Formats: sequence, structure tokens, C-alpha cells
Amino acid sequence: MIVIAGVQTPEEHIQAIVAVIEKEGLQAHVSHGSDRTIIGLIGSVEPKLAEHLRQMKGVENVVKISKSYKLASRDFHPENTVISIKGVNIGGGELVIMGGPCAVESAAQIDEIAALVKAAGAQVLRGGAFKPRTGPYSFQGTGVEGLIMMAEAGKKHDLLTITEVMTPEYVDICAEYADILQVGTRNMQNFDLLRKLGTCGKPVLLKRGFSSTYDEFLNAAEYILAGGNPNVMLCERGIRTFETYTRNTLDLSAIPVLQQLSHLPVISDPSHGTGRRELVVPMTKASVAAGADGLIIEMHTDPDNSMTGDGVQSLFPDQFSDLLKDLELLAPAVGKTFHTPSTIS
Ligand code: PEP
Ligand code: MN
Repeated sequence: MIVIAGVQTPEEHIQAIVAVIEKEGLQAHVSHGSDRTIIGLIGSVEPKLAEHLRQMKGVENVVKISKSYKLASRDFHPENTVISIKGVNIGGGELVIMGGPCAVESAAQIDEIAALVKAAGAQVLRGGAFKPRTGPYSFQGTGVEGLIMMAEAGKKHDLLTITEVMTPEYVDICAEYADILQVGTRNMQNFDLLRKLGTCGKPVLLKRGFSSTYDEFLNAAEYILAGGNPNVMLCERGIRTFETYTRNTLDLSAIPVLQQLSHLPVISDPSHGTGRRELVVPMTKASVAAGADGLIIEMHTDPDNSMTGDGVQSLFPDQFSDLLKDLELLAPAVGKTFHTPSTIS
């Protein structure tokens, strides 16, 4: 349920409403918007309480929310969430590009790629140190050493870093080295991991499970939010369909749908979404046109010899750089800003 109060409602009235809600043993989440204040209730609400709240000073309306996720819903929080990390604002009109290899392979590799990612104009360096591989005998990542290599490259080239965390035990160490923690598609419903991320103190990029509905996706985000971490990004990375030509089917509709249902920033991953290098450029542009707040794109200097199978979907550095130049032109057409270094003098 949500209580809607006018934007002019004095803070003391808001606090009185919150006190009544908390007295009933429920949680109250206050969200101040530009035209109204929303107080979201979590817990089961007796009709008597709803009626009492309706009569209170400043209350314009009391509305039942039937969705199972609350904190992730736009009903609870009408304004967009903007996640600010060291001067980069995700979800706030600035197009955010995360680029880099599938996996951190060596210090030299991540350093070389970081330099190219920065020169192209991206704000975030991506790279997995812990890799979720389909087979147990495949390369599993460089682990903690990879985290350290990536943190050094990020620092040296003035880039934020994002890396995948696969188990609750590794959340603390990943949070120590990376600016953003990524939950992979295979772990979207790893509820212990999601709960742990609720208290990790770092923003989380949650990838959509490849067979998950929007409702399941938003409920997974709810676990992190309910744990006390408000900084969650939703990432569409393609879903399983009957089509086998592409690795996955990038669900472009997810971008506007998630933005309608939720206030959280939406990021698109056209690399895993298509699995084919030649499709990454058009699907990046399509994602921006559909309103994505950011992109996460694989790029490699030697994709044919990459240590994961994802070289086939990795852009070459020149393609990445040309793509970002095009995004600089495309972004303003959809109300976003993005600048490459060539135009920043
Ligand atoms: C990745 O980003 O390299 C990755 C493994 O992604 P996903 O979880 O979407 O497959
Ligand atoms: Mn990958």
C-alpha cells in the first residue's frame, strides 16, 4: 500500500504518518518527489489502518499496490533512482558505457584494454575475475589476483570498475576492489547472494536470468533493496528463445517495460544478448534508442585468443571507439548526454 501526500505537506505531518505505520509493526519508506510525497508500506495492512491513514493531515490518497515487489516499483518511488559513483551518475540522463573483456586474463591485458576503454570515452571498466562457466573444466577466472589487477587498471586509467560476484563468501572482497558488483544471469535467483548484496555497501548491477520474467527479475532486485542497498541497476542481457542463430534474444522491450515498472536504472548488454560481434553495434544503438541508461559491452584486443568463449561477441577496439562516437550523436536524440574525449577539449 502507498500513502500519497501533497508536496507541500509539512515534514511533521509526514513523520506523524510514519509513526502510525511503524506503531503497527510495519515498515514505512518515504520518497519525496517533485509533485508529491509517497510513503510506501511494507507488511500486511489492516483495513482499519488504511482508513485511519486516509483521515490524517496531508494525506491525499491511500492506494493498494498489488505487485509483490514494492521497493523496486515505480509506485513506491516515482522519481528515477540516480546512482552516483565518484562523479558518474547512472540513471540520471548521462549515458553510461561499461566496456572491457569478458575476463581479466592478466595485468598487461586489463591495463591495455583499460587504456582503450578510457580513450574511447567509456566511464566504467568491465571484467570478470570469477567466471561462471558452463563446464567445470573451462577457465574459471583469475580470482582475487584478477580483482587486484582490475582495480589497479581502473585506478591508473581513471575508470570505475565492475566485476561479477558469484557467491556470498566473495562479496566482501569483491566490494573491497570493485566499484560495482555484477550478479550474473545464472545467479539472478541466488537469494543468499542477493541478501548479502543488500548489505555490501556497493552498487549492484543485477542481470536478468535468461529464463526470467520481469516480475521475477524485479523481485530479485527487491531482495537487494530490502536488505538496505538502494543502488541497484537492472541489466537486460538476452533471454532464451527458440531462435538459435543468436546466443540469446536481446529483449529490447525489457528496457521501456522495466523503466515503466521500476525507478531503477536499466542497462543493456548486447554482447551476451546476441553472442555475435556483428550484432553488437546495431543492438547497442537500438538499446540507446529504446531508452537504456547505460550499456555493458565486451571489447578485447585479441578476441580470437580470449580465454573465455566470448571473443566471438567482443568488439575490436576500433569498433568500440567508433561505436561510442556514434552514440555521442545518438544520445541527445533520446534526451541523454554522452561525450567522447575527442569532443571534450
Ligand atoms: C559476463 O558479463 O561476462 C557474463 C558472464 O554475463 P551473463 O551473466 O549475462 O552471462
Ligand atoms: Mn562474457
